Amino acid sequence: MTVEKIDKKKKIIKTIRIDVDKCNGCRACEVICSAFHAAPKYSSNNPARSRIRIIRDPLRDIYVPVYAGDYTVSECAGRDKYMIDGKEYDECAFCRASCPSRDEFKEPDSGLPLKCDMCEGEDEPLCVKWCHAEALIYEEREEEAEEQEEPEDLEIGLESLADKYGMDKIMDAVARMNEKD
Ligand code: SF4
Ligand code: SF4
Repeated sequence: MTVEKIDKKKKIIKTIRIDVDKCNGCRACEVICSAFHAAPKYSSNNPARSRIRIIRDPLRDIYVPVYAGDYTVSECAGRDKYMIDGKEYDECAFCRASCPSRDEFKEPDSGLPLKCDMCEGEDEPLCVKWCHAEALIYEEREEEAEEQEEPEDLEIGLESLADKYGMDKIMDAVARMNEKD
């Protein structure tokens, strides 16, 4: 009998609990998120670059914060549609993915995918700090986890560019850039 040695490591699971009933649609979270991720930091703000978006229906007082999740190359085979209090929302309105079939959670200039990084380097996510309605609550817990390699931002960005333009065009562009050096 062989016993495989599995390295267990502790990892911190970061969660933002969303209390939809408390959100008033002020969009402060979108503003601070886009400002934090601007280059240089805080040099500008544009909610289109935010990694959180608020689905809004002001007449019905419905506001739903949605966080940007992973980039996905494969579009879903089906679509989902939500009805809330009799209102029908856009297809995939509450989906977290940055995906080829829609513009949400993409950098407006480059089209590169955006993903919430929990404000890496900050002691608490900034959208949570800026939400005075207390609709966003930050929680942490420790879990044992098997070691798993996460893809780097660069890999995810390249994957999405290859998806959009094709690998040959990316390689041609890199070759042209090398020639200029
Ligand atoms: S800052 Fe809070 S209350 Fe304002 S839109 Fe964002 S989640 Fe809602
Ligand atoms: S946790 Fe940070 S990166 Fe994620 S949505 Fe909030 S402000 Fe943006």
